[in-house]
This record gives sequence, structure tokens and C-alpha cells, in this order.
Amino acid sequence: MSKIIITPLGTISPYTKGNMNCPGFLVEYNNKKIILDCGNGITRLLNFPSDLKDLNVIITHYHKDHFGDLGALQYASYVYHNLGLLDKKIKIYLPKNDIGFNKASITSNNESYSDYYDIDNSCSFLIDDLDITFEDNNSHTIESYMVKLQNENFKIVYTSDIGTTNFSKLVDFCKDADLIICESSFLQKHNANSKTHMTAYDAGILASKSNAQKLLLTHFWPEEDKRLYLEEAKQNFKNVEVAEESKKLILRR
Ligand SMILES: [Zn+2]
Ligand SMILES: [Zn+2]
Repeated sequence: MSKIIITPLGTISPYTKGNMNCPGFLVEYNNKKIILDCGNGITRLLNFPSDLKDLNVIITHYHKDHFGDLGALQYASYVYHNLGLLDKKIKIYLPKNDIGFNKASITSNNESYSDYYDIDNSCSFLIDDLDITFEDNNSHTIESYMVKLQNENFKIVYTSDIGTTNFSKLVDFCKDADLIICESSFLQKHNANSKTHMTAYDAGILASKSNAQKLLLTHFWPEEDKRLYLEEAKQNFKNVEVAEESKKLILRR
């Protein structure tokens, strides 16, 4: 029996509110951990120092709501290493192209026990047999990478921030996924331009056209009722949930 545990750490943007944090998901597989985006506030839901062990952190793009807590994680790795409680560096994956000197500022941090790796369309790495690949759909305001985690049992896609500009390519990337963790920044009532951020309605269409098993919505506006996103996505796709901080989702096969 193979198992992947997904814990939402942050589900709103662009600021924290109450017990909700900026974007982040913890994926656990064979006692190894992947954090997908490291938004403001997510470290309060991690267990230290145990979650630093065998930790891979993926930053999908250089918008501050997606890496606001990375400095805290880096400093924790430094301190726990100095205390003798962390013997292996954490791995931090970052888009190869620097934007606004954000990458330079992250990787030049000396008070961190970490190694850095580049992300682009051709990069991939393995967590045991779980293959992690990336694709920029060219539909956010800056370069932003979707992440695919796949082995013979599972296919999980995290869209990160994305719009509908290149929708057919997005459907291809998500084809037959067991789970799509999809941003839904907007509701239709916002009358927003969904070319660089999706509505929950769009997310439902994506899950349906991709023939996905399940859709998990995230990246909500802090002041909106999450149930509205759920209702909107349900018009197009039935098996949908809204991400809630700490509410685990377990995939088994
Ligand atoms: Zn963004
Ligand atoms: Zn964002």
C-alpha cells in the first residue's frame, strides 16, 4: 500500500488572517517531505525540528506571498544544525531566473543550513520513485511553475498561481491527475481578468476537462467565504473540496 499525505499549510493570499496563512502545502511520502510554496505564516503549522528532516522546499515563483516564511525556515535549519539536531541540509528549489533580486537575496543568506537547486521547464528530481517535474504555463504575471508529482500510483498537480491564458496546455499538464491542487483567486462576481489568476469556476472546468479524480481549491481572498468558491467550482466538477489549514488529505493505493 502506497500513501501520500497532503496537509494544507496556507490557503489565502495576499495576507494572513486568523488561523489562515499565505500559500503552502506539505506533502509527505515515505517519511520524506516536500513543501510546495512557503507563504507567510506556514511555519507555525510545522513541527520543529522533525519537519526539517529530509525536507525539500519548492518555491514556484518570486511573489512574496509564496516565500514570505522561507527566511524563518532557513534560520530554523541553521539553529537546529548548530544545536546538533539537524545533520542533513534542507533542499530549496527556486526558479532559475532571478526576478527582482529575490533569488539572490534568498541564496546569499549565510544563516541557513540549505542547498539550492534550480527550477525550469527541463528540471526534475526524484523523491524515491516520485518524479517531480515543472512547467511554466506562461499565464501568470511573472514566470511561475506548476509542479507535478508522479509515480506509478499517483499523479498530483499543484498549479501554483496561474490563469487561463494557455488553458489547453494546462489541461494537458493535468491530464488524468488523481488530484489537482488549483488556485482559485477569484469568484465570477469579482469580474476579474482571469488570464493571470483563475476563478473557482475556471478551476472546475480544468478538473473536468483534465478528467481528474479530485480537485482541491486554494489561494482564496482572505475576506471571502470559502463556501462560495466551492459552490462555483461544483457547477463544473463534483469531487471538489476547499483547502483548510491542517485538514489532511490522504491518497492511498
Ligand atoms: Zn503570484
Ligand atoms: Zn499567489
